[in-house]
Amino acid sequence: MAVPDLTVKRLGEATIDSPLSGVKFIPENSSVIYGKDADEVIREYNENGRLSAFEQAGPREKIYHDPAWTHAAILTAGGLCPGLNDVIKGLTRTLMVRYNVPIVFGIRYGYQGLIPSFGYEPMLLTPDSVDGIHEIGGTVLGSSRGRQDEVTMVETLKRMNIKILFCIGGDGTLRCAHDIAMEVERRGLNISVVCIPKTIDNDINFIDKTFGFETAVYATNSVISSAHNEAKGTPHGVGLIHVMGRDSGFIAAYATLANTHVNYCLVPEDAFSLYEGEHALLPSLERRLRERKHAVIIVSEGAGQHLFEEESSRRDKSGNVLHHNIGEFLHEKIVAWGKEINLDLSVKYFDPSYLIRSLPAHGTDAVFCEMLAQHAVHAAMAGRTDVVIGHWNDRFTHVPIPVATSSRKKIDINSSLWDSVKSVTWKCYR
Ligand code: ATP
Ligand code: MG
Repeated sequence: MAVPDLTVKRLGEATIDSPLSGVKFIPENSSVIYGKDADEVIREYNENGRLSAFEQAGPREKIYHDPAWTHAAILTAGGLCPGLNDVIKGLTRTLMVRYNVPIVFGIRYGYQGLIPSFGYEPMLLTPDSVDGIHEIGGTVLGSSRGRQDEVTMVETLKRMNIKILFCIGGDGTLRCAHDIAMEVERRGLNISVVCIPKTIDNDINFIDKTFGFETAVYATNSVISSAHNEAKGTPHGVGLIHVMGRDSGFIAAYATLANTHVNYCLVPEDAFSLYEGEHALLPSLERRLRERKHAVIIVSEGAGQHLFEEESSRRDKSGNVLHHNIGEFLHEKIVAWGKEINLDLSVKYFDPSYLIRSLPAHGTDAVFCEMLAQHAVHAAMAGRTDVVIGHWNDRFTHVPIPVATSSRKKIDINSSLWDSVKSVTWKCYR
């Protein structure tokens, strides 16, 4: 794949001494190589005489925004994800405690909070007011879907004298943030727009890790154990778990590897059939139930959409396609098929999606949120804009928003990840 232009926009020259002390400043030209293996790197260098690289994130010795005159604002948009409050807390504390930024607004209900006609007053965030929010799930700012007009939003930013806007959200949120950054540029304003990518599905390209994903995998663990206990509790018991993963099956794949009671892992990237063909689920399930008497199936929400007669025409307020419910569909099909082949089976169905989305972040996921937030503040103070904070080759990076939204990351079914999943699951794939 050709690597796109990874140059990150700057509002102007950074001329102000950073107020940070005792930190390791990142040199202006520090980069993180795109290539992940030696062959790839050598090939790219031989072909182009240069290497694609991301700008490395981190504190700069010279900054662009004068902290004393900087007002910042934070918003969350799209669906919930573990860690949103950790990021809000990390941003607020880094801005106010480390950089001495005097005012941090919490914008209510996503982009709606920047449209005056909705009438949502912004919240004033302080280190004290955000102190315990990392312990609770959801977002203290609220969120929303649905398109808003960037011209009106930029008017609001200007009126509130906001110099930095942090947007925490998924691909839709990132696209809207890019529209705002373009409108800011058109007007020649000096407002930084910096995003922290939120996708529990871990499906953003050019970013190898996003927050919330690890918590989702961890929380799915106990559901898999429950499904397994239920499945083993009756002859021919089936535990069926429907997990998030609209376009990419990373949660299902990692949860399978984290709790290998799973026998079938169904993801959008690997098409399966129900009755016939090499990857037919039901004949394989019959063999498994007759031999082992129980089975656990995990299915991503975007898997098996081709099994429905019509493509889903339902959309949410932001225009995202709402998939057919593959979990309920499989539940019905397995029960009906059991009757057809005279197998007295029992299916227990679990859908923990909303339960998991609204959890607080767990363990190193919470650490990751805090570090993302710190790097976002460093990027903004240094005058970067139209940028997403990424993570690549074990470093935090600056990724231009259009690059992050250009395509989705998916499971490569020829990768060692998918090989590992296949090696712990059942005969559908053997
Ligand atoms: P999730 O992963 O939960 O879907 P998301 O950020 O993609 O998160 P959306 O509801 O799609 O959630 O979008 C959030 C906000 O971004 C909404 O206010 C929406 O109108 C706006 N948005 C979505 N898509 C676009 C787009 N293509 N251009 C501009 N704004 C957009
Ligand atoms: Mg989205």
